Amino acid sequence: MVSSTFSPPTRILMGPGPSGAHPRVLRAMNAPILGHLDPEFLRIMDDCRIMLRQVLRTENEVTIATPGTGTSGMEAAVMNIIEPGDKAVVGICGYFGERIAEMAERAGATVTRVHAPWGSPVDPAKVRDAVRAAGAVKMVGIVHAETSTGVMTPVEPFAPIAHEAGGLLLVDCVTSLGGVPVEIDRWGADAVYSGTQKCLSAPPGVAPVSFSPRAWDVIKSRETPCNTFYLDMQLLEAYWDGRRAYHHTAPISMIYALHEALALVLDEGLDQRWARHERNGRALQAGFEGLGLVNHADVEYRLPVLTTVRIPEGVNDAEVRGALLKRHGIEIGGGLGDLKGKVWRVGLMGESSNEGNVFLLLSALGRILREQGFKADIPNGIAAATARLSSV
Ligand SMILES: *Cc1c(COP(=O)(O)O)cnc(C)c1O
Repeated sequence: MVSSTFSPPTRILMGPGPSGAHPRVLRAMNAPILGHLDPEFLRIMDDCRIMLRQVLRTENEVTIATPGTGTSGMEAAVMNIIEPGDKAVVGICGYFGERIAEMAERAGATVTRVHAPWGSPVDPAKVRDAVRAAGAVKMVGIVHAETSTGVMTPVEPFAPIAHEAGGLLLVDCVTSLGGVPVEIDRWGADAVYSGTQKCLSAPPGVAPVSFSPRAWDVIKSRETPCNTFYLDMQLLEAYWDGRRAYHHTAPISMIYALHEALALVLDEGLDQRWARHERNGRALQAGFEGLGLVNHADVEYRLPVLTTVRIPEGVNDAEVRGALLKRHGIEIGGGLGDLKGKVWRVGLMGESSNEGNVFLLLSALGRILREQGFKADIPNGIAAATARLSSV
């Protein structure tokens, strides 16, 4: 029977997303609904454009939010750039890189995949070789922060590789935006997208996207129309810019949420926000090691916002995650793809990135691991996290 009461429990969201939304964001979503062409709503959209450019560190004119989660941003970027017969090279070191490659193929591209082990970043030298071998490449795609592995691929080397081939650089910043430095213009990235429910502390629902003038020229001079109507960037931009041409009914409350989330990021300050994520992430990773666990990702490329920690031999993955949720209300993620059953994915993103969550998880997980027969050294884990927090 359908329950007549609606009372989702309060959880501590420490998985790969969604993360906990900021109370101010949830309050903003309670505001009255405006029409999607109401001058007051259009003003809110304009504010979002300005704040998005600040948070993405770009001057790109075409910087908006697509309706839908991070994947809608990915699809908007890929489908608008690729035409049938194009060539693309995608660096893949986890689940989301493969998704970019698959989308490019669906758009009609011939895709070269450049793989890296799940736990290491994409190697720019290998991508350069693949681009040179392929010839005129329309798009080079990489994921900045691989949420499936906890690895960050430094973006700097990739723009010259794409541009040398006459192509565009696409960068997935879904998990990095608002948590670690994202610098679109400094990188020279051409098509970038993100999401709201990772480090921006809003519910899932819209996707920031930004296109460089170079990418916009490519999109405007397509020979074939983009094969998605809903995410056709030229139609979306005609609504977001001064033309205000109806395309779809904007998800009003989600735009409120985006507005408030971006304002919160700018109030905190990008540098401070990155430092907070860095501090808490490193404390958690030190704490895991203190418990006797092993962090999976290469240490130099380890993300602070998403940690993959190896599941010890003899410990039951599902039982541990179930106990965390049932007894402590804590959600963490299981492994994806190559890492299924091998790691847990622990997020400290946005609002969820705080000291309290670091200690809560270390003690709760430590206790559950001991029940599972793994001798987690809880005092040592807590001490290691404390030492790391006190050192900065
Ligand atoms: C979460 C995520 C996505 C997909 O976003 P959804 O909001 O789930 O659609 C894409 N790329 C990366 C790196 C992600 O972490």
